[in-house]
Amino acid sequence: MPAQVVHVLNVLSQAGYEAFLVGGCVRDTLLGRSVHDYDVATNAHPEAVQGLFTHVIPTGIGHGTVTVTDGHFPVEVTTYRIEADYSDGRHPDKVAYAERLSDDLLRRDFTINAVAMDAAGKLVDPLNGQRDLHRRLIRAVGDPSERFSEDGLRIIRALRFAAQLGFTIETSTHRAMTFEVLRLQAVSMERVGQELLKIAAGNWFVVLPDLALGPYLHSTKQPLDRLQRAFAKVHRIVSSCPELGWERWRKIFGSDTDALRAFPPAQWPGTPLFRPNLAAIALWMAHMTSQSTITALFRSLAWQKSFVSTAVETARLLRARPWTWSEFRWREALVESDLSALYTACALADWLKPTDRHTSCRIRLFDVFQETPLRSVRELAVSGHQLAAFGLVGPQIGIAIRKLVHAIISEKVENSEDDLRRFLFHA
Ligand code: ATP
Ligand code: MG
Repeated sequence: MPAQVVHVLNVLSQAGYEAFLVGGCVRDTLLGRSVHDYDVATNAHPEAVQGLFTHVIPTGIGHGTVTVTDGHFPVEVTTYRIEADYSDGRHPDKVAYAERLSDDLLRRDFTINAVAMDAAGKLVDPLNGQRDLHRRLIRAVGDPSERFSEDGLRIIRALRFAAQLGFTIETSTHRAMTFEVLRLQAVSMERVGQELLKIAAGNWFVVLPDLALGPYLHSTKQPLDRLQRAFAKVHRIVSSCPELGWERWRKIFGSDTDALRAFPPAQWPGTPLFRPNLAAIALWMAHMTSQSTITALFRSLAWQKSFVSTAVETARLLRARPWTWSEFRWREALVESDLSALYTACALADWLKPTDRHTSCRIRLFDVFQETPLRSVRELAVSGHQLAAFGLVGPQIGIAIRKLVHAIISEKVENSEDDLRRFLFHA
């Protein structure tokens, strides 16, 4: 625990108040993940907190939150509270301070986010969040339908935690999410976009039916009606076919699931651009809509430009089916894409539109995956630095790399340093 966080907890408790870390920082600490922000819950009211520290910003004083900036980074301190009457489906009408930590934990979204920890590392866990962390389960605190109808954002937060942590969504929580999905209407498109971005960047694949966003996009008044219809169509297909859950998904993957598993999260390329969820979202759109609509959607979700272009490129590639082998290999090399993400996307393509064994793009891609001598430029046996050491300069390096990639995937040369050097300089 950083010294500054300990300091905030100690100052509060020396002044006679309770003070606990809560939310994502406790969850991530217990999971051994890196922590990016620390939230403190206390029974001290904001005015009292302001009196105890030198640098305090009243960031959300109406909700009982102030930010202490005494050290290098900000620590949010929020007074225990209970929330009531969410008539707009997003924000509580009333926020009342609570006396007890246990009441504050009850207003939180999921049990894994409702564990408190004091300065000595002692845990307070009345909702059994630790048990769910061990079981890798996302479970709503209290009655799931009620919690999602209070605040629709929690629906997409659940998917986001599934994508980030690889946890399963507990059955009744999942059922309530699907049932209450229209509650997302009350959430701004920007907020949904932020969460979708985290889903897209998550290491863990969220199975498409889980997204269940069709009716939401269908009903929302955003000027993206074609896309809404498209999502609604997928949703109809998915919901008219109840067995399209995870089991069905596994069946379709069959033994290939192992191939996918062979690429655990750590081995996905370091960039967040090639992620299975991103590929899935792109694919989903590619199936249903035009490129300009995809671009408009990504933009309206306020996604970074680089995400937009990668997603659009993935979508373009996928729409260009059917591929011939060499064409595909060529393109694969040209976009310097990564087969594992595309593989996931192709599995989804087959899943949405079943094809026979011979025309299945997943199987075709799987064969490429197995047989291609090069899956990504990153696997080239010579690096840009080595090419520079061989005497190539500036754009010559890029040209040489492209030449080598083409030669390897057309099986004219082996991907070994010696062969590549010979090919470049003596061919
Ligand atoms: P991260 O910061 O890693 O994205 P987090 O769980 O800390 O995840 P925050 O948005 O920082 O998410 O929220 C902090 C805590 O506040 C959550 O862990 C949860 O306990 C509570 N919380 C946040 N949003 C909601 C919500 N919409 N409904 C109920 N509780 C919420
Ligand atoms: Mg947080």
